[in-house]
Amino acid sequence: MSLPMTSGFQGQNKVKLNVFTIEECPACGQKTKRPFAAGDYITKDGAKCTKCGNTTKITLIYAEPPAKPK
Ligand SMILES: [Zn+2]
Repeated sequence: MSLPMTSGFQGQNKVKLNVFTIEECPACGQKTKRPFAAGDYITKDGAKCTKCGNTTKITLIYAEPPAKPK
């Protein structure tokens, strides 16, 4: 076994992605974006719709890089 040559570069390329979950209401189409929580998966029931009270479904889970430093 050989070790990867990363000594001396630790912490240099550590990019932490922000993961978000989109909950969509099947009745009115309202979409809610919230931070991903452990156990989330697509088609899982989400929170109650804030507009019509129906149970939302998770339709999308995605990651985006943190805001770029200027
Ligand atoms: Zn709704």
